[in-house]
Amino acid sequence: MTLPSTPSTPSAPLPAATILGYPRIGPDRELKRDVESYWKGALDASGLRERAAALRAATRARLRGLGLTGASAVPADFTYYDQVLQVTTAFGALPERFGDLRGSAGDAADAGGTDAEAGEFPGTSLSGFFTAARGEGERAALEMTKWLDSNYHYLVPELDADTPIGYVPGFGAIDPTDGPVAQVLEALRAGEEAPRPVVVGPVTYLLLAKAADGADAGFRPLDRLHDVLNAYGHLLADLWAAGAEWVQLDEPALVSDAWDVPRDEVLAAVADAYTWIAAIAERPQVLVAGSYGSLGDALPVLAGTGVEGIALDLVAGEAPSVDELEPLAGKTVVAGVVSGRNIWRTDLEAALSTLESLRDALPAGTPVVVGTSTSLQHVPHDAARETSLPADIRSWLAFADQKVAEVRILARGLADGREAVADELAEDTRLRAERAAHPGVNRGEVRAAVVAVTQADRTRAPYAERKAAQKDRLGLPLLPTTTIGSFPQTAEIRKARAAHRRGELGTEAYEDAMRAEIKRVVRLQEEIGLDVLVHGEAERNDMVQYFAELLDGFAATEHGWVQSYGSRCTRPSILWGDITRPEPMTVAWSSYAQSLTDKPMKGMLTGPVTIMAWSFVRDDIPRAQVADQLGLALRAEVADLEAAGIPVVQVDEPAIRETLPLRLDDRPDYLEWSVGAFRLATGGAAATTQIHTHLCYSEFDVVIDAVDHLDADVTSIEASRSRMDILPAVAEHGFERQLGPGVWDIHSPRVPSAQECTDLLERAVAALGVEKLWANPDCGLKTRAYAETEASLRHLVAAARAVREIG
Ligand code: GLN
Ligand code: ZN
Repeated sequence: MTLPSTPSTPSAPLPAATILGYPRIGPDRELKRDVESYWKGALDASGLRERAAALRAATRARLRGLGLTGASAVPADFTYYDQVLQVTTAFGALPERFGDLRGSAGDAADAGGTDAEAGEFPGTSLSGFFTAARGEGERAALEMTKWLDSNYHYLVPELDADTPIGYVPGFGAIDPTDGPVAQVLEALRAGEEAPRPVVVGPVTYLLLAKAADGADAGFRPLDRLHDVLNAYGHLLADLWAAGAEWVQLDEPALVSDAWDVPRDEVLAAVADAYTWIAAIAERPQVLVAGSYGSLGDALPVLAGTGVEGIALDLVAGEAPSVDELEPLAGKTVVAGVVSGRNIWRTDLEAALSTLESLRDALPAGTPVVVGTSTSLQHVPHDAARETSLPADIRSWLAFADQKVAEVRILARGLADGREAVADELAEDTRLRAERAAHPGVNRGEVRAAVVAVTQADRTRAPYAERKAAQKDRLGLPLLPTTTIGSFPQTAEIRKARAAHRRGELGTEAYEDAMRAEIKRVVRLQEEIGLDVLVHGEAERNDMVQYFAELLDGFAATEHGWVQSYGSRCTRPSILWGDITRPEPMTVAWSSYAQSLTDKPMKGMLTGPVTIMAWSFVRDDIPRAQVADQLGLALRAEVADLEAAGIPVVQVDEPAIRETLPLRLDDRPDYLEWSVGAFRLATGGAAATTQIHTHLCYSEFDVVIDAVDHLDADVTSIEASRSRMDILPAVAEHGFERQLGPGVWDIHSPRVPSAQECTDLLERAVAALGVEKLWANPDCGLKTRAYAETEASLRHLVAAARAVREIG
């Protein structure tokens, strides 16, 4: 039985069904709209707060309506922008450049009163919170990075030895009315049961942080553990006083062993943190959630502390063995058998078996709560609204609300036996069989084509031969200049596309508008003097969705939005079937563009791994197989581009690194199939066709071997922000082929001077020699305006010319 670790800790059990988190943007992206209205000045701070409170109330009502009842069943995980920024501002731990936004500890202490403890901050203002998230003038926003292996981006904390880490009362990012404590009080005031606040846990918070610029060499954010724990101590006491029975501390970082900090030090921090937290006299029960994989050797460490509950991800992670479960006696186990990551119905039979085995393997009497594997923040709200999808496809889906229902069914099945949920199990089995038998799910010719792939299909002529052939064909100067593909997506382009989608603009008129845009972009590039031109991607709404709409095997949703970061949402396509390419997808646009110029035109494709990373991918066949199906479809497109006379083809793979597995042991296999799929897409290209690829980050050291194995003739990467720092490592690695390290940071509207571009190119030449180098921006230009695009490209071309001369 659960023994409270201290007499004052509440001991109410967790209800039998729960979820680890719920989408916070709202079914119609209410939060996005409200926050953006506030930014525009159309809504004031108190207006925004009211709307947010209404959204939270609606969410709680929705979850109750779905049957998620009982104290602590409903998570309280609201934040206006990001769960990590929420913690940063609740510590007052903004970096120095935002020092004025921290709220001042001094003020709080001086304001005196008996409650003002040392280190207690009054908090960041609402506008300050958003300023830290979005930047302002010269003050760069906090950096954004992928949360674990998901497509959600969090704001990276920047810490050094002196960053103040205090406690904002209530842990509100903005003021006490917004934090987890207020979210508990708000529900209680409304006469509801206490929700379960969800907060990023201390070890994960510090592992996700980076050392601030100028921090002492050797400083690691994890060194601040004790300071951070103090703030969590205040938080837990406040939550207890507010009436929370349970608090959920998310510790997903523990499932990864790829941090800079050695594993034994991570484990020591876990022991330290949770022993300390468990010893707090007056606090809610603590549920530590280890999502996105297996806790592995962190499980026994957590089990050895006095925390009351542990949430296991049994979708991405494996079920622990009987021996590993033994030390969990006396704790509550939340079994995450319903995926928070994908949009497919849960295999209820299989999930129930997992739950039953877990219960049998656990020490007798250990409570097992049925839960989701992660927060549901990665999935859209409600599949029932997708009425334009074919009914059969819709019946295979489970978005957040359907997953809540699944959790409840499974909890009932676990408690009352399979007979109690026999109808639901039978229905699920039926739908599963229907899905497997759907002709689009299993196309014989696609399966046969994948099976027939040989290593030769993934192998081009030796690079030396390609290099010579391309030199003859393209006749490019030293340091050739090019761009990454897209040109600014102007308001007119977006308007034309929207009108076409609504049926107000005919296809012919729409295509005329796009051709006019392509012509303009080609003329502009000629006039600026670029060497390898692009058509500008005006016709593409999005680099993945564009292909998803043209390939068979994909479906698009109407309301399937998920938060990407802050107010930014994406609507991933659903990859549900075997992939075929009914007809060429890009050839007409690229050929038209090539017809306008004598300069080489670069065809633009999105690679298999990136298409998968930014879609919801089927769960019924291995990802490696899906990747090869996409590889084959793209291979046919490359062949058609070649046949149409396009001499250069770029296959973008910005996501190859972001879907890298969290565990080092899982990486070789992933890299093998992902690189293999890219090579399948490009392996049929003649030696005379120059294959480019593009990756959107600079720290590609972890995947440099893999990038080398992509065997592209030219690879462009981001490098300007880090001032080419990566290049010595690239040189050392012995990267044989050509590289285009970005000389213009397109993530900011700032126009680099020609001198700046020249300096960066010279640094690149010093590291790699001029022979292998290209001059290009960091990434695509679709988010930039024309004024800065033109000016920057002119400077880039001037710089390339200058460096060629000294050469
Ligand atoms: N070709 C794409 C573009 O230029 C690449 C975008 C990306 O790297 N994310 O927009
Ligand atoms: Zn990019």
